[in-house]
Amino acid sequence: MNNINNLKNTEMYEVINMKNKFGELIYKCPICNSVSGTYIVKSRDPKYFTHIYNCPNSDKIPMEKNQKINETLNKSFKYKGLDDLNNKSLNILNKSIESGLIENYVEHVFTDKDTKRRLSYSEMRELYG
Ligand SMILES: [Zn+2]
Repeated sequence: MNNINNLKNTEMYEVINMKNKFGELIYKCPICNSVSGTYIVKSRDPKYFTHIYNCPNSDKIPMEKNQKINETLNKSFKYKGLDDLNNKSLNILNKSIESGLIENYVEHVFTDKDTKRRLSYSEMRELYG
């Protein structure tokens, strides 16, 4: 989907989300206030985002706010040492947040994996804590 792993510099910064005149998502640098084109949104390659001279964000990877939240979630869940069942749920939660379909996550945790039966709230809490 993107080239993050191919980049040498993996430092990130949080962008301000904006829309261009066509309603497409673009980014704004919070330091130099430069506004990007649309290609950076898909590629995440810093070379497609021109900042003002000497902006410290010039070589860093732009991240949207909710992408940072996903990372923080991942770290805090791993820190607690969750088991496989919960890690699988977390992956679905992350995908749901990315796609904006939080219902997918709710459906996942409230469904019995073997019987596909709808679980009660207390049954769900027993499984996922
Ligand atoms: Zn900048």
